[in-house]
Amino acid sequence: MSAFAYRNGGLHAEDVPLREIAAQHGTPCYVYSRAALTAAYRDFDTAFTGHDHLICYAVKANANLAILNLFARLGSGFDIVSGGELARVLAAGGDPRKIVFSGVGKTAIEIRDALNAGILCFNVESASELERINQIAGALNRLAPVSLRVNPDVDAKTHPYIATGLKENKFGVAYDDALTLYQRARGLKHLKITGIDCHIGSQLTDVAPFTAAAERVMALVRSLHADGIALSHIDLGGGLGVQYQAEENPPSINAYAAAILKGVAGRTEKLLFEPGRFLTANAGVLLTRVEYLKRGDERNFAVVDGAMNDLMRPALYDAWHDILPAAQTTDQPETWEIVGPVCESGDFLGRNRRLAIHEGDLLAIRSAGAYGMSMSSNYNTRPRAAEIMVDGAAMHVIRKRETVAELFANETLLP
Ligand SMILES: *Cc1c(COP(=O)(O)O)cnc(C)c1O
Repeated sequence: MSAFAYRNGGLHAEDVPLREIAAQHGTPCYVYSRAALTAAYRDFDTAFTGHDHLICYAVKANANLAILNLFARLGSGFDIVSGGELARVLAAGGDPRKIVFSGVGKTAIEIRDALNAGILCFNVESASELERINQIAGALNRLAPVSLRVNPDVDAKTHPYIATGLKENKFGVAYDDALTLYQRARGLKHLKITGIDCHIGSQLTDVAPFTAAAERVMALVRSLHADGIALSHIDLGGGLGVQYQAEENPPSINAYAAAILKGVAGRTEKLLFEPGRFLTANAGVLLTRVEYLKRGDERNFAVVDGAMNDLMRPALYDAWHDILPAAQTTDQPETWEIVGPVCESGDFLGRNRRLAIHEGDLLAIRSAGAYGMSMSSNYNTRPRAAEIMVDGAAMHVIRKRETVAELFANETLLP
């Protein structure tokens, strides 16, 4: 059962009416369900029961401290892509020994901080990065655990902005160069080769690209083994898609796990995964209020108080999010463009939606728990939304709404 469901005509997050959340905390705000986050984590974890594994939650999907802390308490590790995310994970009580560090542009300072924190592994994305990590580890008198992120050249069949496993993408080291690079890494004194990883993209709705990538990675694992390079883990990245709309049919977590487990049958290396969206997307909604209705000859616009700065996915990827009224009605639906107040025609949250709406109504933009708040900005000097975590009948503010004064606190006038 979804954590967001109608009861007595009102949409609830677990046991709390969304109307009540808006009344207490204002709009726009993000609303998350602790039960839904927990269930998604447990589903993923349970699906891989048959093989030693570690979930490294991809922090960039939703980096709120309360969410990181919740996953840490469930036993999760973390996949970070910046020094900022490292600091967040540590502040949230995450175990540094369960952190993998991905990303093509790790700075010297980020590498140093991660080494000092004692992370599980650097997911290295280039030959130059390998050299840099070796040098910094040497200066700190440490041994840096490394994995090479290989680019398996597999088409993830997703939006081009979130496809990462093709030769044309900036990510990882070329498949054909991987063996040579591992041999080079073996010769670097301050590195300890611990794994291999790949991540081919996000919002994948088919298992085939996952199994194709896993096969390519496994072939390398066997070659490395034959060459005397033994790995302790194999990290197959994240990317499992979720259902944003009814026609979308991402594989179930069990189908995904079965396909992966088949591909690694007989191997004893620990499996790592970096799911982001799967763990958080459907555990959150963006709650927004209708300010104005503007009926026109061509289009009807419902102007809401949430905007592209709060939820960028529609503007950036033309992504579709389901939109539900917080109060059920029997009024006749009309066709609406759900738009925000930002001065861009790309500022829409939904187009062509059949809804019965009135000024002052509350709308819930669904599946907003991943890449919602974490991609938000202050464009148009809009303070970022509050974030509320519902837990049964309780609600907790896990991030206060920003104030306008905070937005320009770091700015100064010319002398
Ligand atoms: C973004 C990202 C993920 C998470 O992707 P999801 O589609 O949210 O599961 C995992 N690993 C890396 C390296 C990433 O960049």
